[in-house]
Amino acid sequence: MIDHKKVLEIIEKIAEKIHENRQFLTDLDAAIGDGDHGINLDRGFQAVVEKLPTIKDKDIGSILKTVGMTLVSTVGGASGPLYGTAFMKAGAVMSGKMELNGSDILTIFEEAIKGIQVRGKANRGEKTMLDAIEPAYEALRRELEKGSTLKDALSQAENAAKEGVEYTKTIIATKGRASYLGERSIGHQDPGATSSMLIFTVLKESCE
Ligand code: ADP
Ligand code: MG
Ligand code: MG
Repeated sequence: MIDHKKVLEIIEKIAEKIHENRQFLTDLDAAIGDGDHGINLDRGFQAVVEKLPTIKDKDIGSILKTVGMTLVSTVGGASGPLYGTAFMKAGAVMSGKMELNGSDILTIFEEAIKGIQVRGKANRGEKTMLDAIEPAYEALRRELEKGSTLKDALSQAENAAKEGVEYTKTIIATKGRASYLGERSIGHQDPGATSSMLIFTVLKESCE
């Protein structure tokens, strides 16, 4: 069970992880985009951290919505509206909740993925964040359905996200700035898939 305090702690850890990987994500984006992914996300998550004290007693839906709105208004680029929408959509279905069970966590990711797809019109295989998030969600669902603990399920989800990031090296980008490179995007891992994978790493680490 994950209560609202744990959710706040996880969000703070995501901000730390993004901060630690700011240069790495920016370098990945410099290779196939415009070299700002780490800068964009770090700016957004630092703004989120500043807001956390104001939402510390709120329900999980409100917390996720605030994170989403803050990301939309501070990250910019392609990833701001996409991550922002993901958190806002997830928040919308968690209104009033003070704790989450496994099935709530699956619902959160289902809504987040739908939000990203509606907003960005991408599908899996286009070298985007979805190439990490979708397989991670599927692994999480598979593990929870077969009765694995949340800790084991999140560990499998992180593995699937890592495989998804590796897979992005093998494919051509057809969405976002990296699509301007065409075949030259092959061989490079997608920055957004990488930041999504880092979020799954935090989830796994937070439930150890
Ligand atoms: P920008 O490309 O505007 O500079 P960022 O560098 O912050 O924005 O984010 C780039 C990442 O956004 C990409 O690596 C990719 O994962 C993700 N992305 C771009 N377009 C889409 C899309 N249509 N759907 C899903 N993800 C996308
Ligand atoms: Mg960029
Ligand atoms: Mg940019």
